[in-house]
Amino acid sequence: MTSGQQPGKTMKVRCCIVGGGPAGMMLGYLLGRAGIDVVVLEKHADFFRDFRGDTVHPSTLQVMDELGLIDGFLKLPHQRLQKMDGLFGGTPVRIADLSRLHTKYPFIAFMPQWDFLNYLREAGRRFASLKVMMSTEAVDLIRRGETIAGVRAKTPDGTIDIEADLTIACDGRHSTVRERAGLPVEEIGAPMDVLWFRAGRRPDETENVFARVEPGKMMITFDRGDYWQCAYVIAKGQHEAVKARGLQALLDDVVRMAPILRSGIAEVKSFDDIKLLTVAINRLTRWTQPGLLCIGDAAHAMSPVGGVGVNLAVQDAVATANLLADKLQHGCPSEDELDAIRRRREFPVKMTQRMQVVVQNNLISGALRSGDRPLKVPLVVRLITALPWLQGIPARLIALGVRPEHVHSRAAPGS
Ligand SMILES: Cc1cc2nc3c(=O)[nH]c(=O)nc-3n(C[C@H](O)[C@H](O)[C@H](O)COP(=O)(O)OP(=O)(O)OC[C@H]3O[C@@H](n4cnc5c(N)ncnc54)[C@H](O)[C@@H]3O)c2cc1C
Repeated sequence: MTSGQQPGKTMKVRCCIVGGGPAGMMLGYLLGRAGIDVVVLEKHADFFRDFRGDTVHPSTLQVMDELGLIDGFLKLPHQRLQKMDGLFGGTPVRIADLSRLHTKYPFIAFMPQWDFLNYLREAGRRFASLKVMMSTEAVDLIRRGETIAGVRAKTPDGTIDIEADLTIACDGRHSTVRERAGLPVEEIGAPMDVLWFRAGRRPDETENVFARVEPGKMMITFDRGDYWQCAYVIAKGQHEAVKARGLQALLDDVVRMAPILRSGIAEVKSFDDIKLLTVAINRLTRWTQPGLLCIGDAAHAMSPVGGVGVNLAVQDAVATANLLADKLQHGCPSEDELDAIRRRREFPVKMTQRMQVVVQNNLISGALRSGDRPLKVPLVVRLITALPWLQGIPARLIALGVRPEHVHSRAAPGS
């Protein structure tokens, strides 16, 4: 064991998933469905965290459909987005139109991530082999020679050693597991950070503008029913400078860009109501060690561009179950078999990150650095706006992504 601490209790499972985010909860569901003895550890007591990815894209809706979970899921409160419209230096533009897609669910569902995760948790309760342990934080790895043999975790009742044939890190972009395993991270970088906040919304306030770009400023607003979810983009490292200018100066800028927020912005009372997302793009060059696999943000942190992080995490989970569920019936897959996940998923991840970098460097960086100079709508945006049939291309990239996954892992008899 790597830790000198005395262990408390122990338990043994075939597969230990660290992290109950979209990747971990979806993978737990799929492995439980396949009858694998699996535990998901989540360090928080619940899933209630504001300003996580709340976008459920058609690729994930399709997966929910394939699992027979879609009807109940779409009964949960959500909003639907099909057309992504923006104002670029005051000029109306259309970025994407999902109604042009030939797919069963041609919209993005906006749903609080905790509703999505709670729904998966409830749906998974019927699988006897799936256990979800809340308030349980993996703090160290258990090693047997060169092999990762599970994790040591902190619980409200003390420490527990969870021995597992396979440990899967789904613990997000600040992954403890990948850090303890010493897996190398390739940083790609991002020129911006994002400030997230909510502004109140009256029922009579409607507007279809999703993105606003002005000289030196950029903002996204989503209609979330009784509030507007707002993402104000700032140049990387400028958070302290924004705070130094004061809250009122920031809110004035926001309302100048989006007058619809004039009354609701009163809900932002201090910088405590504004959450900083430090944008990162990175990926592991190696996703495995013997007995260990990383997926989701733990393997590749995504930029918020396109709002695809949740969906890539779900796609990783589906690919992992497809490739490993049968093998896990018999024990831990070999490292080469584990590496099949990277070989399958690395291409979509790299392609998506490359597109995010192109948007960041050409559109976002340019807008943020433009000072007071008037903005010219980029040619590609002008073309997409002018030629509606082109609007299906960004829609497809955002909605379905590269190499969408379908559920092929088997369901154990009776599940
Ligand atoms: C502010 C913000 C806004 C975002 N907006 C969007 C968006 O609009 N659309 C979108 O698609 N994506 C968005 N993302 C990204 C998206 O949330 C992630 O890409 C996605 O959630 C990744 O899923 P994951 O399961 O891999 O990791 P995460 O969602 O990060 O889940 C990791 C889980 O592991 C738990 N955990 C961490 N460490 C441990 C440990 N040691 N032991 C046990 N549990 C642990 C965490 O509590 C968490 O529940 C946003 C991210 C942030 C931070």
